[in-house]
Amino acid sequence: MKKTVLLALLPLVSAAPAFGTVKVVSSIQDFASIADSVGGKRVETFALSRGYQDPHFVEPKPSFILKLSRADLLIVAGLELEVGYLPPLLDQSRNGKIRPGSPGYLDASAGCDILERPTGVVTRAMGDVHPFGNPHYWLDPSNGRVIARAIAAKLSEIDSAGAAEYKSNLAAFETTLAEAEKKWEATLAPYAGTEVVTYHNSWPNFLKRFGLKAAGYIEPKPGIPPSPAHTVELINLMNARKVPVILMEPYFDERTPRSVAQKTGATLLRFIPSVGGVPQAKDYISLFDYDVKLLAEALATKRAGR
Ligand SMILES: [Zn+2]
Repeated sequence: MKKTVLLALLPLVSAAPAFGTVKVVSSIQDFASIADSVGGKRVETFALSRGYQDPHFVEPKPSFILKLSRADLLIVAGLELEVGYLPPLLDQSRNGKIRPGSPGYLDASAGCDILERPTGVVTRAMGDVHPFGNPHYWLDPSNGRVIARAIAAKLSEIDSAGAAEYKSNLAAFETTLAEAEKKWEATLAPYAGTEVVTYHNSWPNFLKRFGLKAAGYIEPKPGIPPSPAHTVELINLMNARKVPVILMEPYFDERTPRSVAQKTGATLLRFIPSVGGVPQAKDYISLFDYDVKLLAEALATKRAGR
């Protein structure tokens, strides 16, 4: 009798790690989405910031401390993206498993192509929020692949019973990503070399990957609000170089970019830097689907002179 009961329970037991699901907390929804793809049913993910919020300035909530205290794995962007809110939360969570240097801590920037790394002494001149290089690197799908592999390796370390599952989930994710990359590249290929202006410097990895360039930014420096003098300079530059679009993250004030768009004839696009920024960007793949389509359509319209 006892034997029968055990056998009946076996499939359920083998479908989850011995200690239940692996609890993953990430700073941004993009990492949670990749962890969901790689972890499948073995993981439970929670992101501290939403895709429509500025990832530099996340409002800490008491519920975050509880989530962190129970986490088996913490995934951060690093490069000081989370420096404004995460360290005190991590202290208060009193969870030694997920502290920097512990097995349950993953800095997703490791192994990724990081742009704009400073070559000299690091300063925070004018309050620059990118002192160690550009922290928005997940916006290159090649980096997404690196991040997925790192997450799979971490999960296998934490939950070795699931290693085979993580390996096959990772392979499936990589196949889907590779197919999608071909589609995105083909969609944006006709616009190679096009210059764009962005509000914050969130897109260097995205632009590099798809052969586009940033002509300038609405912010004089990352994290510094627009100033009249900088805006005048930017308008002159955009008119001289015929910059067709302005990409704006959803969490900024629209007034300056709208006025710049009016004075230059550029199209202002609400460009989504993270999963969850709009409902359609429900995971890491559909985030790029959304942005690539939006940009390609705007550039096609401009080119046709409409
Ligand atoms: Zn930034």
